[in-house]
Amino acid sequence: MSTAGLEIAAPAQKCDDVRCPFHGHVKVRGRLLTGRVVSTSGKSFVVIQMEYLHKIRKFGRSERRKSRLTAHLPGCIQAHEGEMATIAECRPLSKSISFVVVQSRRSA
Ligand SMILES: [Zn+2]
Repeated sequence: MSTAGLEIAAPAQKCDDVRCPFHGHVKVRGRLLTGRVVSTSGKSFVVIQMEYLHKIRKFGRSERRKSRLTAHLPGCIQAHEGEMATIAECRPLSKSISFVVVQSRRSA
């Protein structure tokens, strides 16, 4: 069972997606991020949103910031809006996609 070099178990399902890190030819390296799935309307990708606190020293307070990334969704992984997805950096797959979903779970 291929784990694509990550400490994440391969999905139970198999797929023939060449852009799958488990069953295809995409290698993952670099950053591993976790964020909430906010859009699944794309055909082969999902939008992940990450929220973080940015400290402002002058006022001693923090502001909430968020950033979004698009990530390729392999055929063997199901992602639904509201789930927490783990995405791994890979080579650029298109103009704006250089991450691939490696896991998506309901709980936070
Ligand atoms: Zn796959």
